[in-house]
Amino acid sequence: MNPYFAIYKPERGSYSGGFEQLLRQEKTVYKVSDERTDAAVTCFEGVFPQWAYEYVGQGGIAFVSGADSRTFDFDAGYLCKAGIEWIDLSFCNAGRARISSGISVFAGQGKGELTLHEFRTIKGKHRPGFYPVFLYKPYGKGLIIYSGVPLSEILTYEGSTLRNTSEALDFDERISSVDKQKVGRALKTVLMEAMHEAGYPYVSLWYFPDGARSGFAYSIDGDGLLSQGVDDLIEVSQKTDTKFLFYINKQLCEDDPDLKEKLKRISETNLIASHAALHNAHNSYEDNIRDIEEHEEWMNSLGIPFEKSFASPRGMYCQNLGRALKDKGFRHTRDFGYAIDDYPYYPMNDGKQEVPLQIPCDGFNVCRWMLRNEELGLDKPSGEQILNAYKLLIDKKLEQDLPLLFFCHPQYFGLYAKEIYPQMVDYARSKGALITDYIFYGDFWIERDGCEYYLSFEDGKMQVELLNKDPRIRLCVDGKICDPETVHLSIDLQDE
Ligand SMILES: [Zn+2]
Repeated sequence: MNPYFAIYKPERGSYSGGFEQLLRQEKTVYKVSDERTDAAVTCFEGVFPQWAYEYVGQGGIAFVSGADSRTFDFDAGYLCKAGIEWIDLSFCNAGRARISSGISVFAGQGKGELTLHEFRTIKGKHRPGFYPVFLYKPYGKGLIIYSGVPLSEILTYEGSTLRNTSEALDFDERISSVDKQKVGRALKTVLMEAMHEAGYPYVSLWYFPDGARSGFAYSIDGDGLLSQGVDDLIEVSQKTDTKFLFYINKQLCEDDPDLKEKLKRISETNLIASHAALHNAHNSYEDNIRDIEEHEEWMNSLGIPFEKSFASPRGMYCQNLGRALKDKGFRHTRDFGYAIDDYPYYPMNDGKQEVPLQIPCDGFNVCRWMLRNEELGLDKPSGEQILNAYKLLIDKKLEQDLPLLFFCHPQYFGLYAKEIYPQMVDYARSKGALITDYIFYGDFWIERDGCEYYLSFEDGKMQVELLNKDPRIRLCVDGKICDPETVHLSIDLQDE
């Protein structure tokens, strides 16, 4: 067995591509195959072919997502099907994750927890209806790790709803309806463990340029460019030497008589990208193409240079929009209704990858907070309250090595920018985050995605060779960021 992952993709039958999405995001070494390989760890979705028993018997480690009563030829502890909203992933510091999925429940010992009776008070010492998310079955010389939750498939789900954006804040927004980042974190934790079980370290590429602890960037949805807000945003961007990315919407900006002058001033020190022509979502591929072209022609007529980067109006992303963006040459898109709080990634849809890089951001924004307070008859939030919320979110993300990517609108964040933005930047910098921008980080991720490296195993040593090396990209071995000079790495497995 060799130190890489395999993903079993059957010639026929269902295949979400969720494992591919995750391992590509991690930038670990993996191979997709419809047959047995010599990979140390192989991932399966819902099926466990006959050859896999021999593979595990000889020392392979299998991870099976979305198992059910018919997956295995041994008694795996299957109980029933269930409709579940939440699973507990505290074992890997991911807290509770919303999955809203149909699952299979297995009894046994394992990691993570789900319950058939959500929101029930626990009485006494009895905990009826609690079961593990991940179960472990030693088999021959190897191990089968399995889950009745379709974890890899959940990573690819579309759908948004109004709900709390994080456990840290009492704040809701219309965000991705399932917690893909948390599910991905749990899968990654268990896959790392599987690689260790096989006797190898887990090798991946680090998430931020130059080995930085994290990356901070702020984007502005240009749903109208209120003069005061824009002036203040430009001022603080210059003062902090940072670049906001302004996604500009045609429908909500075109009647502004000073628009051209404002966009010119913004583009001198900040970045401009597309927030569509219509401030709404289109279903069909053709309507999305027309909208993107209309926006492009309008920007060209104004003579404003802009980045091929996008944010969907109202966060309402869909696969047809993504396909249209890719075909029109867009490199990235940032859509909180599709993905929040995660590293950038290439979304899979039913096993296919047809859309640009997704750059998830945090769902928290001052706009929603102000409007909600207004609806409830409360005062506007104070600058101090907003700054504290941002600091709390920054701390929580840093605990998990996540990026610090935020967004808001000129007419709302603009009101507070002078008071709090420089302090936000200082706070993120003081914690070791690289102060960057969405375009730089998105393009870095594309470079990282294209970076090739190889792992081999000889005489008790694992050799790592990194090719096409961008000097900002770092290898990461079991969470340890390796020296920039280390293009060839030899790891003595006896010492592990
Ligand atoms: Zn908008």
